[in-house]
Amino acid sequence: MPGFEIFGEEERKHIEDVMNSGVLMRYNFEPLRNAHWKAKEFETAIQEKLKVAYAHLSSSGTTALITSIKALGIGAGDEIIMPPFTFVASFEAILFTGAIPVFADIDDTLTLSPDSVRKAITPRTKAIMPIHMCGAMADMDELMKIAQENNLWVIEDACQAIGGKYKGKYLGTIGHIGCLSFDFVKTITCGEGGVILTNDLSKYDYCHRFTDHGHDHLGNDRGAENHPIIGLNFRISELQSAIGLAQWTKLDQILNKQKSIKNSIKNILKENTDVKFRRIPDKEGDNASFLSLFLESENLARRVIRELKSSGIPSAYWYDNNWHYVRKWDHFKALKSDTTLFKEQRDLLPDYESQDFTQSDEIIKKTITIPLSLKWTEEEIREIGEKIVKIIINQTNQIEK
Ligand SMILES: *Cc1c(COP(=O)(O)O)cnc(C)c1O
Repeated sequence: MPGFEIFGEEERKHIEDVMNSGVLMRYNFEPLRNAHWKAKEFETAIQEKLKVAYAHLSSSGTTALITSIKALGIGAGDEIIMPPFTFVASFEAILFTGAIPVFADIDDTLTLSPDSVRKAITPRTKAIMPIHMCGAMADMDELMKIAQENNLWVIEDACQAIGGKYKGKYLGTIGHIGCLSFDFVKTITCGEGGVILTNDLSKYDYCHRFTDHGHDHLGNDRGAENHPIIGLNFRISELQSAIGLAQWTKLDQILNKQKSIKNSIKNILKENTDVKFRRIPDKEGDNASFLSLFLESENLARRVIRELKSSGIPSAYWYDNNWHYVRKWDHFKALKSDTTLFKEQRDLLPDYESQDFTQSDEIIKKTITIPLSLKWTEEEIREIGEKIVKIIINQTNQIEK
């Protein structure tokens, strides 16, 4: 799964560069920094690898999302369509720009259903936010088409699918703007961090300004810079960037290892069970950090997850999870009465409590996800595969008895 499993000398070396100069800030201090610009180098490396014109680092995936939404000029009262299966950061980011999260259902890709997106469009809709969950992608062709037909922006949240591709393009670079997260458990980590990706210079300009108090970053004296916009401090530091720069060189190695582990376990399951797998619109482009299975019923899924956990196999059951699925987002559903939001915004929030999520529920209640570890040996991979098979067969038999 994550990059933190393979820290090594590379990370240490870049951190040492930073500590030797003592400059922890990404801007200025030229005379002291020994020509080390870790954030800038990391951004260049990201641009080159992902073949995107502009990459701008920020302090987290969440701040990258907030910045992206604002860079598109989306804010007060605008609607953004998102799936109900994601990390809480997605709706947090939308809400804190003053915009309105509107849910469309997921389908068997575990991400936005294009049909459901079509139905969720209103005159207030400004953007679609596909979220490439658990390493794999939404149906981007369809979603881009819907966006084009309806004059909407596409904000890709590729925080969980770093290095994943769709039809040859890296996830996060297909829509108008995209985000990756480098938090501690992501495919590439720098402790905390994120990046905004775009091919549009004006959006990029907004991003580097907004994440640094609105400074225009023109000229040689930062203290005297102009402020074309109001911003915040969402900067990344040189220490985080140093780690990220080292981790970034390991991306292909991580992806190859994940793909090989995933294939092995999937093959064992295919040969021995009739379990179904999540549909991946472009299998080649899977980042393969997770293996997601569909069991026959909620009952079977609950039994299997219980046994996986008691056998020490890492596994997630999203239907009961209060970070990743709408069913348990009680704090979010109660927002209409949260007086820290403007009344106008609260009035525009849909009644999430009474929204019908049957289509998404039917999928998520049968879904089990196994995070894959880069540390597993060939032997362990086979053992884990065989244990999962045994658990599924045993539990299926017990239900049928
Ligand atoms: C991790 C994550 C984020 C937020 O990233 P942070 O860096 O933790 O702020 C956003 N969206 C999704 C889908 C994520 O998994």
